[in-house]
Amino acid sequence: MRKTILLILLIFLAGCAHVGTVKSRLNDQTFQAENLPYRDLSVFVISDGSWSKESIGAAISDASNSMAEQVGIRLRMNGWIDRALPSFSPTQGLQSVAEIIAEDHPKYDMVIGFSSRGVFSHLLEMVSWFTWLGAIDDNYRKFIIIKFLDERVLIHEICHAFVFSKNHGIRGVLTAVPFKIPLLPALFNLPKYVSKEDRQEILSNKWRDFNEKPVIPEELQIDRIEVPNY
Ligand SMILES: [Zn+2]
Repeated sequence: MRKTILLILLIFLAGCAHVGTVKSRLNDQTFQAENLPYRDLSVFVISDGSWSKESIGAAISDASNSMAEQVGIRLRMNGWIDRALPSFSPTQGLQSVAEIIAEDHPKYDMVIGFSSRGVFSHLLEMVSWFTWLGAIDDNYRKFIIIKFLDERVLIHEICHAFVFSKNHGIRGVLTAVPFKIPLLPALFNLPKYVSKEDRQEILSNKWRDFNEKPVIPEELQIDRIEVPNY
């Protein structure tokens, strides 16, 4: 019975995914003008080889194009390293990303690690209710781990780097999507557009300095990692 309710709920969410988002305003000239000038984020990539360089590059490029038209933020891939990336849990993954970039982190706005889940992790999540697709740290909001290669997961995590008043909302790309149907792969109904209110907050924090820790309410800090002070 419970499964039926969840299924209906998920279908309902998927059906109204774009309500309250900026999708309908993308061609509006006032809207477009508000997004200028563009901010280019300097991104360093850590890859454990789960996906090809072309696939990761394409996902970053798609996320960049989408964010450019929604909030005027673009992603520029300025560094790459191939390295094992232990990331069974979000905290472990974020810690690995921070340790690999280490004292070079101030050279980049964002450091993004890409690592698919292993067989054991897959099995565990197949039978459970929850899964995680990506995470961002709560110290700097600049270290990201991606477990599911998709532009929407990237956009979701990057939006967390500009929205500090809440963790997740009920509309747009910052909707939390940890639900899945047991015994089925992760169900994916995340919209790729930001909500109108999240866009306002993203625009007001658009020029933040990524080497300064943003002020985040204590209760919203879930993924705190140790980042050495350099
Ligand atoms: Zn999130």
